Amino acid sequence: CGIVGAVSAKDSTPFLLEGLATLEYRGYDSAGLALLSSGGVTGLQRARSKGRVAELAAKVAQEGLTGSVGIAHTRWATHGVPAERNAHPHISGGLAVVHNGIIENYEALREKLQGLGYVFTSDTDTETIAHLVQACFKGQIGEPAENLFSAVQCAVKHLKGAFALAVISEEEPECVVVAREGSPLMLGIADDGHYAASDASALLSVTKRMMYLENGDVARLSRDAVAVMDKIGQPVTREVVISSLNA
Ligand code: GLU
Repeated sequence: CGIVGAVSAKDSTPFLLEGLATLEYRGYDSAGLALLSSGGVTGLQRARSKGRVAELAAKVAQEGLTGSVGIAHTRWATHGVPAERNAHPHISGGLAVVHNGIIENYEALREKLQGLGYVFTSDTDTETIAHLVQACFKGQIGEPAENLFSAVQCAVKHLKGAFALAVISEEEPECVVVAREGSPLMLGIADDGHYAASDASALLSVTKRMMYLENGDVARLSRDAVAVMDKIGQPVTREVVISSLNA
């Protein structure tokens, strides 16, 4: 199980699929990706499949999906059987989420979100995160969020458990917002954009310059910049290290 994300000057699909294949050793039963900012296509595009990353890659090729902004996931099911409907990314409106880990309080969150009118289409703990970020974005939970970053900051305050997550939204199609607590997550700093992954090996196809996020961090990746805030919402700088791994 693992996640990757990209905001690139070029099509990020090759990086996302290659990154997922690198993460397969962590365990997998299904895979999926969501893309934004594809030439000519506005709005979120998603592909998911049960089985290996190679099956997802075939689907992506067949459907001709591309996008400069994207997130992707290999799943090792903890809540909900391995099936396409339970594969990530999970969607709420124009917003998509991939998540590695376990949300312990997902049942209480699901009840609360269903009470707000959100309709669930999977059996996962992860889908609660998608609707929770959307509810925070719309100001249905907490203070009305100014942007996707503050919506994710609001959402993670309600989550109990371990997670590394990445979020994209049609409302802000030029960025990926990531957060971590307990599960590993690092950023890749490249000349042509910014990347995120559960594991350094998944970043090597694009860069050796890596930034390790700390527990509680929320980060916004855009083409030209990375902004990180810590658990208490203070802007922080995390050191960039040069990976000694070979691509
Ligand atoms: N708990 C989530 C699920 O079962 C994520 C599992 C994972 O880390 O792949 O969908």
